[in-house]
Amino acid sequence: MTTNQGLSADQIQTAVETIKRNRPAYGSLLDFYGQVFSAQEESKNSVQLDPVLIADEVLSAKRQERLPLIDLAEFKIDITPAAELFHKLCRISEKADSEMVSSVLTIGEALNSNQLDLETLFKAILEVDDAFFETTAKRIGVAGQALAFLTYSSINPCIVMCAEQLSTYLKTDTPWKEGYCPVCGCLPAVSALEDEGGRFLFCSFCWHRWQAPRVRCPFCGNADNQKLHYFFDEKEKEYRVDVCDSCNKYIKTVDTRKIDRPLYPPLEQVSTLHLDIIAREKGLESGSHLPIDV
Ligand SMILES: [Zn+2]
Ligand SMILES: [Zn+2]
Repeated sequence: MTTNQGLSADQIQTAVETIKRNRPAYGSLLDFYGQVFSAQEESKNSVQLDPVLIADEVLSAKRQERLPLIDLAEFKIDITPAAELFHKLCRISEKADSEMVSSVLTIGEALNSNQLDLETLFKAILEVDDAFFETTAKRIGVAGQALAFLTYSSINPCIVMCAEQLSTYLKTDTPWKEGYCPVCGCLPAVSALEDEGGRFLFCSFCWHRWQAPRVRCPFCGNADNQKLHYFFDEKEKEYRVDVCDSCNKYIKTVDTRKIDRPLYPPLEQVSTLHLDIIAREKGLESGSHLPIDV
């Protein structure tokens, strides 16, 4: 099992350009995210992490109880490359045509005058300390979401690499049937259909990829196919939105058999926002959200 990330910056750029050609309205948004994702992949080259070790008895107890391998607070962060990435993402955001520009400039000033400590921010993400983000953002006068986005995005390479290491603890002979991530317990951001009809879910936090039952809602476990359906747009046959009537939640699904670009799930997630809008108009609720609102 892998996270299915780890594409090179060039491969990400190819996927970005392909999607931009199909959906020109996403141009500036994808230019921005293309740079963010490439910077994250490049940052991985500098990240060094000690493995997270899980004792045999803890591991078997977790398996027994269908619990994820770790709590978010147990993810390891390599502070120096994460801080470098934070600064890089600020520079990318400053140049982007985004609402974040004014927040990013203020965040830069707060860092220069030591009003912000990145290590504390990184920790607050792992401790899901919403209140800390809210008060910190208020104190320096920025949007909380911009601060949380930059912070999570900066530690994302460490989280993904940590999840890759942890995934070696997962048994491949006993498939994980739960809708939450077997590594960290977060909910899936997107799903994918692959050859032979296999279905995979991608964690919204650590991007771990795991095989899931094809007919089962990841959010409430409903497996009654009378209460599971999907909708799609004729013009975009590679996507569909899976809907559960039991919990009224949806997840966006990419049919990888119908795409001719490398699959980079975080990119598919941000380039299908129109599907979220349609789903919300239908009164559905997204089942995917990060522990902290980024
Ligand atoms: Zn996860
Ligand atoms: Zn459901």
